[in-house]
Amino acid sequence: MTKSTNIVWHESDVTKEHRQRLNRHRSAVLWFTGLSASGKSTISVALEKALHTKGIHTYRLDGDNIRHGLNNNLGFRPEDRTENIRRVGEVAKLMVDAGLITLAAFISPYAADRKQVRDLVETEEFIEIYVKASLEVCESRDPKGLYKKARLGEIKDFTGIDAPYEEPKRPEIIIDTDHIGVDESVQLIMDYLEQQKYI
Ligand code: ADP
Repeated sequence: MTKSTNIVWHESDVTKEHRQRLNRHRSAVLWFTGLSASGKSTISVALEKALHTKGIHTYRLDGDNIRHGLNNNLGFRPEDRTENIRRVGEVAKLMVDAGLITLAAFISPYAADRKQVRDLVETEEFIEIYVKASLEVCESRDPKGLYKKARLGEIKDFTGIDAPYEEPKRPEIIIDTDHIGVDESVQLIMDYLEQQKYI
């Protein structure tokens, strides 16, 4: 593919700061990472509802949903996973520019890919949330029957089974869903956003 040339960034008169002022809250990416079935989607859906109820402008990006559209040409090989996260990172950056609290729920197993997204936005605009659950618990939940298929060899390159998951070293928030429920998880993140004056 040839790269475009002669492209110049065109500034808007309405900026991110203007949009944030209009919204009366800051914008940021809440990046949920963790094993399949750790609870990323469940918690991000519940959190978005709670934020919306409080009048916060949000948008949720979800791994499986994005793979139906924008990223429907990508699989689960390492280079595809990296490209998946790169594109989502760029979309998340646009959402932050649009003034939204953006909730992104992606396994995103590689630390380098998550770091690339972190580096795309301002320091305080990236909040990494490690949705931590043991493989045993995830496998016992198995809401989509994927672990079962992976164990039978019907799905290849499945994170935690025959593909790696690199744990975040210094996430802003850790949610241990082996031990806490959805409501408490939502409250924890809400408290963080209020304490850090995002909302
Ligand atoms: P992911 O998006 O990480 O793949 P999902 O949210 O799709 O995970 O699935 C997590 C499953 O685990 C759901 O069926 C959810 O109801 C269940 N679950 C049980 N306990 C919790 C918890 N504490 N937090 C989040 N989900 C939980």
